[in-house]
Amino acid sequence: MSAHSVAKGKRKKMTHLFDRGAGFLVVDELDRPIPSPESFSEEQWEFKKVARAFMDREVIPHAKALENKDLNLMRQLMLKAGEQGLLMVEIPEAYGGLGLGITTASIVGEEFSREANFSVTAVAHMGIGTLPVVFFGTHEAKSEILPKSATGEWIGAYCLTEPGSGSDAMAARTSALSTDQGWSVNGNKQFITNAGFADYFCVFAQVDPEASENGRNFTGFVAKMEDGGIEIGPEEHKMGVRGSSTCPVTFNDCGVPTDNLLGKVGKGHRIAFGVLNVGRLKLAAGAAGGIKQGLNRIIAYTSERRQFDKAISEFALTRSKIGVLVVKTYAIESALYRCSGEIDKALEELDPAAEDYGERKVKILEEFAVECAAMKIFGSEMLDEAVDEFVQLHGGYGFIEDYFAEGAYRNSRINRIWEGTNEINRMLIPGTIMRKALKGQLMEIVTAQQALMQELATGQVKLPDYEGIGADALETAARLRRLAVYVMGMAGAVHGTGMVREQESLVGCADLVILSYVVDSAGRRAHQAGDELMGKMADLYAALALDQARMIAQRQLIDLGASESLNMLEPLLRPTTTNVTKLSREIGDAAITAEGYPLKT
Ligand SMILES: Cc1cc2nc3c(=O)[nH]c(=O)nc-3n(C[C@H](O)[C@H](O)[C@H](O)COP(=O)(O)OP(=O)(O)OC[C@H]3O[C@@H](n4cnc5c(N)ncnc54)[C@H](O)[C@@H]3O)c2cc1C
Repeated sequence: MSAHSVAKGKRKKMTHLFDRGAGFLVVDELDRPIPSPESFSEEQWEFKKVARAFMDREVIPHAKALENKDLNLMRQLMLKAGEQGLLMVEIPEAYGGLGLGITTASIVGEEFSREANFSVTAVAHMGIGTLPVVFFGTHEAKSEILPKSATGEWIGAYCLTEPGSGSDAMAARTSALSTDQGWSVNGNKQFITNAGFADYFCVFAQVDPEASENGRNFTGFVAKMEDGGIEIGPEEHKMGVRGSSTCPVTFNDCGVPTDNLLGKVGKGHRIAFGVLNVGRLKLAAGAAGGIKQGLNRIIAYTSERRQFDKAISEFALTRSKIGVLVVKTYAIESALYRCSGEIDKALEELDPAAEDYGERKVKILEEFAVECAAMKIFGSEMLDEAVDEFVQLHGGYGFIEDYFAEGAYRNSRINRIWEGTNEINRMLIPGTIMRKALKGQLMEIVTAQQALMQELATGQVKLPDYEGIGADALETAARLRRLAVYVMGMAGAVHGTGMVREQESLVGCADLVILSYVVDSAGRRAHQAGDELMGKMADLYAALALDQARMIAQRQLIDLGASESLNMLEPLLRPTTTNVTKLSREIGDAAITAEGYPLKT
């Protein structure tokens, strides 16, 4: 079965209330189920099957050639993926796609991640390379580009970064001067994925910079290779994902027709960052897929390799290590598909044919910017921890190229850098939440802060009473939420408008928010699924997260000069009674018995 046929009968009416981004910080009740892999539709599971079979059949057998940068082979594989309908998930039906949501795209991305080079190519093409056109292209640009993009006949690239502007993307110097036919684009872009063979480039430039007040009029365009004026520099020699194409791109009097303006002049940031939100979520899907793939292989290796007359997988420490990797994967998966599901529900309300479709879609993505950033950070860091463990569990063989762990270790590292570095993403989190609270869009946070202050003053912190599967994780999440809200409130009170310069404080607040979201998602998912193994995973992850959160909160409050509040916060800070050793071994054993990730996947 191909993905085309899976897509039939896909539209469902939105049945739940729209969730506001960062709203999870103030909700204790369990009356509203969260989206999760257990709520995937049959169609979504079928997509997973199609994508997995495609990877097994067409891509993984060629991993070595791809790693050696056989870019012709890469193009052929992209065409084959297109034939299977795997590249068209998010392209509207009117332009030759399937018009499906971010959850399905993430499911496909998770499977693609089993071969890193193909994954980078395909995910960049479908996401940052094409979504700017999907969201903001004119009818003419969409009609020309999207049908070919859907089949893999044309490949897209995204040109934001420049030699002098990376994190500070809006400081780009590439210019776009208006001409009789449209625009003439000039400038240099750096580190462009897919540049070596791309057919169209979503490029961000300052329109008529001389005429604008500060030289900034940041705007998106889509330029086609066949129109000329685009020069591709040499391939970079990279630490990882060596088989993907990364080159500098020079725009030299590149003529872009009027129809290829993306959105409005001066509004390029909405496109550039709106698209990155989706990319951040899919990056977490890739991380979950990467760890699952590694788990299969590490379990096989440690079950075969014997030392001291035993398989390494029989040692307590190996079992625990595998258990911890499993719960981190479970944690990513729970939060990621919760977020993608909430976004999809909101997107279902939109009419893809409406003129303001792109604008409204980006608004929804912006609403969930905190969760998307949280997942990018969490996914990339869990993957880095996992690949490090894959190397370690291989011993010396992990350092040798013939073993998968060596490549996985190198390939993982880029994820903390692109799609906005983890530092930039961390700073975005409390900044966005505080702005929302100040604007009255998330007043509940202020109310929760005030209520908590009162409870702390009277020495009676009220925590919800949960029962059943995942109860420990749910209670821990309730404590983490309060800690995050409290520390953010204290930081805001101490630093005031200078908070934006207090980056260490912003990072600490972000970490508490991320841990709250992930533990909450893990606990809710286990509870609503009523699954004992999931409950154990959620409780174990919650215990580990609370240990981490306690250290962060203590350091933050001491540095804020509020160490006297630590005693009052004891009901929130005290460790859980979870037996981490016992649970880690037990979950590790479940994975070893299952020869991989022990949940349906
Ligand atoms: C393999 C690869 C593929 C890529 N693909 C693409 C692509 O397809 N399209 C594209 O447009 N870009 C792409 N990039 C670029 C990537 O997104 C950037 O490298 C990234 O955004 C960081 O920018 P930079 O490299 O200029 O680092 P810088 O912005 O110079 O950052 C350097 C360090 O300073 C820190 N820093 C920066 N600003 C601050 C601040 N305000 N406060 C505190 N710390 C700060 C950063 O976190 C980082 O640790 C790719 C990069 C690579 C390596």
